[in-house]
Amino acid sequence: MADANAFGIAGLLGWPVAHSRSPTIHNYWLNQYGLSGRYVLLPVPPEKLSIALPGLAVLGFRGCNVTTPHKQAVMPMIQSVDPLARRIGAVNTIVVEKDGSLKGFNNDGNGFIQSLRDADPQWRPDSGPIVVLGAGGAARAVVASLAVQGAKEIRLSNRTLDKAQQIADAVGPVVKVLPWDQRADALDGAALLANATSLGMAGKPPLEISLDRLPKNALVGDLIYIPPETPLLATARMRGNITVNGLGLLLNQARPAFNAWFGVMPEITPALRQAIAATF
Ligand code: NAP
Repeated sequence: MADANAFGIAGLLGWPVAHSRSPTIHNYWLNQYGLSGRYVLLPVPPEKLSIALPGLAVLGFRGCNVTTPHKQAVMPMIQSVDPLARRIGAVNTIVVEKDGSLKGFNNDGNGFIQSLRDADPQWRPDSGPIVVLGAGGAARAVVASLAVQGAKEIRLSNRTLDKAQQIADAVGPVVKVLPWDQRADALDGAALLANATSLGMAGKPPLEISLDRLPKNALVGDLIYIPPETPLLATARMRGNITVNGLGLLLNQARPAFNAWFGVMPEITPALRQAIAATF
């Protein structure tokens, strides 16, 4: 960590980055904890990524978040990657070390798990079978982190079966792959349903799935936070399930990143949630 009194910069590296709520979160915390610094947007196209990364240390950045389409591409371009990020196969946070080298982490999966525990403190990754829908970068992070945190059975379904199989091969036998047309059957006896597809996001079609076989005491999590309540979450809430949107993931993955960059583990307060809600 750099001198805590020095002006600190962090940012979001992606292409595009304009719609992110991360600046609202980190700048809110910088202000709340009286720290001198700023979190900025770093729109960098893929062909400029290898030039931008070494510039972070030179320009005095403490680190950055990494988003689409760079989460995998940065891995061979940085000096070290922590074991969970390596298992996930993607980096969402970079920390500039004292010697100027770059270290990559992935806090997305753990952030999602923490958001579920915030909503239902009784729930644990080993509470019962877990159904994850989707096999993109976000699903990879969620599945790998659930496995590391003790999940016993993860039923993974994706439109493109091959991508789900690749996650199962990387994470291990705890992951059982199911064809997309069997996603509703997978809900039998589940303790958690997690939507990690982009279906239900504003401007996209809804996720179509019958929840008839899902126990009423199961948690339903959606990684999407725009809109704050997807059609899936609305249906689940109306039948009595506890529901969690993707804002909790965003907030909980931001905490360890802020701590690594600025030396304070920040709190998620109702006022912070209100500040973000005001941006919608
Ligand atoms: P991605 O890599 O592009 O993956 C998209 C996933 O959605 C794939 O599994 C894809 O299936 C599936 N999908 C898309 N259209 C579909 C359709 N018409 N029918 C069935 N499946 C469809 O995206 P990602 O980065 O993993 O992100 C996934 C979601 O998580 C997004 O909504 C994103 O906003 C959200 N997310 C939220 C946070 C947060 O902070 N809350 C962080 C990361 C991601 P195929 O493999 O068959 O194409």
